[in-house]
Amino acid sequence: MPPRISPADRRLITAYTEAALRIERQLRDVSDPKRRDSIKARIEPILSELEAITAQYLRKDLAAQFKRGSQEAVDTLRKMKEFRGDIKESFTQLHKEALQVLADGAAKSFGVGIRGVRGEVERMISTATKQQIQAEILAADASGSKAAVKDIFEKQGFASFRSDSRTWNLDHYASMITHTILAEAHNTGAATRYAENGVEFVRIIERETAPDACCKWMRGKIVWLGERRLLNPFHPNCFGSFAPYFGDTSQAFRSIDDPRIPKEVRKFLARKS
Ligand SMILES: [Zn+2]
Repeated sequence: MPPRISPADRRLITAYTEAALRIERQLRDVSDPKRRDSIKARIEPILSELEAITAQYLRKDLAAQFKRGSQEAVDTLRKMKEFRGDIKESFTQLHKEALQVLADGAAKSFGVGIRGVRGEVERMISTATKQQIQAEILAADASGSKAAVKDIFEKQGFASFRSDSRTWNLDHYASMITHTILAEAHNTGAATRYAENGVEFVRIIERETAPDACCKWMRGKIVWLGERRLLNPFHPNCFGSFAPYFGDTSQAFRSIDDPRIPKEVRKFLARKS
């Protein structure tokens, strides 16, 4: 079974979308010298709240995705006539460690996004202050109307900040990270469970209509479970998975350095490390 977006995943993405909108609203004040000074103080609680929501998600909801993947692996093995013997299904230290590594990596990625916003808010405030000073010097110098300069600044200043700002992409960034991490948690839950039960090879499942070269090429390939980079997700929105494979493995892929893997595909696989 492929990974699916859960209501908890969707809630996290929505929290980032709403935060991005609230931050955008606060940043409109950047061209107003009286309001500019308090922008950081008004944005900080929005970011702190986002950090708390993210930490809660990584603690609780990511574990739920991991356990779903693990449970689906148990159910799959139970249905396979090739698999014999008792199925190990307890949540051992090994599983906890695998999940912890994922949560740590995800925390770092979300942290990069939030730190990026903090840095950018500072940059916008400082640029606006410099432009304000410049505009005032020009107005005094050219005996032009101060009001007119202020008008130009307010019309153009904000528009120019906006176009090259990464803050406006916080929601897209968070959505991409969430999609990747939920698929990663789900599939790692399954991979850990399969490996623990002696499964060594899996067949990659991806849609025939996958939009990217990597998923398209990996589709149907038999890969060794011991190389995590050969397992999906290969990219954020495809939600591919894999199934245990008990057939001939002489042609299976065991390493991302296998010369049969095209260069453009290897590039994406290598990025997963
Ligand atoms: Zn894809």
